[in-house]
Amino acid sequence: MRPLRMAPAVPFFRPSIADAEVQAVVDVLQSGWLTSGPRVKQFEADFAVFVGAKHAIALNSATAALHLAVEALGLARGQAVLVPTMTFASTAEVVRYMDAVPVLVDCHADSFNLDFDDAERKCTAARDGRLPGLPPLEVVGMIPVHVGGVMVDLAATRRFAERHQLWVVDDAAHALPAAWRRDAAAPWIRCGEGTAQVSCFSFYANKTITTGEGGMAVTDDSQLAERMRIMALHGLSRDAWERYRTGSAWDYRIVAPGFKYNLTDIAAALGIEQLKRADEMRTARESLALEYRDRLADVDAIELPPMVDHRQHAWHLFPVSLRLEQLTIGRDAFIEQLHASGIGTSVHWRPLHLHPYYQDQFKWTAESCPTATREWQRRVSLPLFPGMSADEQHAVVAAVQSACARHQR
Ligand SMILES: *Cc1c(COP(=O)(O)O)cnc(C)c1O
Repeated sequence: MRPLRMAPAVPFFRPSIADAEVQAVVDVLQSGWLTSGPRVKQFEADFAVFVGAKHAIALNSATAALHLAVEALGLARGQAVLVPTMTFASTAEVVRYMDAVPVLVDCHADSFNLDFDDAERKCTAARDGRLPGLPPLEVVGMIPVHVGGVMVDLAATRRFAERHQLWVVDDAAHALPAAWRRDAAAPWIRCGEGTAQVSCFSFYANKTITTGEGGMAVTDDSQLAERMRIMALHGLSRDAWERYRTGSAWDYRIVAPGFKYNLTDIAAALGIEQLKRADEMRTARESLALEYRDRLADVDAIELPPMVDHRQHAWHLFPVSLRLEQLTIGRDAFIEQLHASGIGTSVHWRPLHLHPYYQDQFKWTAESCPTATREWQRRVSLPLFPGMSADEQHAVVAAVQSACARHQR
């Protein structure tokens, strides 16, 4: 049977899996121990060193990491957390898992990172009971997202959190590796290196390193680490590997009603090898991103992603914004044109305040976050992955140029 649609000639993403990674997984499969065990311990130790954190807890997703982080921080029913509207579902849903309220914050038009002026307005409005349909709320934390791999200004985050007495959890799903520095004379600080109470990374299939599905919570706080470790595995006082290793395999104590969020050794084996190449893969993505910037510089109908000073950009995404006033087609038709040319794309994201659940539950409207409402409609992410060939990139550039030329107003 003929497939209904041809797979794109250039996919939006293709994971980079080296022979060493395949072999590492095969070794685990033949080792006799498949679930969380020695590879997970190794991956956690390597990861903690890589980002410069004291503790790392390997989990089966970044969503699990975010959930465990807010649970360990004691987020309670009815409290509120500042969450950027420009993010994936996970960042806000974990707040809902705790029966708390995500207060959605608008973004900057260029970086799509959260806008601290709006965070200020929303925090005050939430505390004063001025959010539609909500009583005065106790705002206790914030979850900045480093969109596409550009870190949110760390100094601004710290100032804001201190002034408003908030904890900070990084949604670092895009930020491996990413770094920030105050100025040219200051040292680089890696995302996860004390940048938040807990930083949460993703190893989903299309993230900067992958274990198929997977995530990591890192923290310098040993109490938070201990709580997250226990809650990641049914609230048991000791994990299965520890019991096996010490010979008392049958005994454990349930100390809390925990979750089932542990990573397998199969996935960790992949993660250990991917992590070794994280910097090298970032460099490859950066070269491709710079090449895109060069080749697309004279296409008037698109705006390129900003180069922000004093950031080491993870280049998880390469988003462009269409200058709709110069085109006869909208973003969705533009995506279809690229698809017809065999180019895979994605959109990051339909903002949370424009989803039915958040509109129904919390009365968010298009006007709640006007920048996100306006900007997401002209944004599209182009393919960017370390194994992308020059031919593939030229095909993307040619498809963008021709779609813009054909539909010039
Ligand atoms: C991918 C992603 C997540 C979720 O990661 P999982 O590992 O799939 O749970 C969370 N936040 C952002 C911003 C993401 O892009």
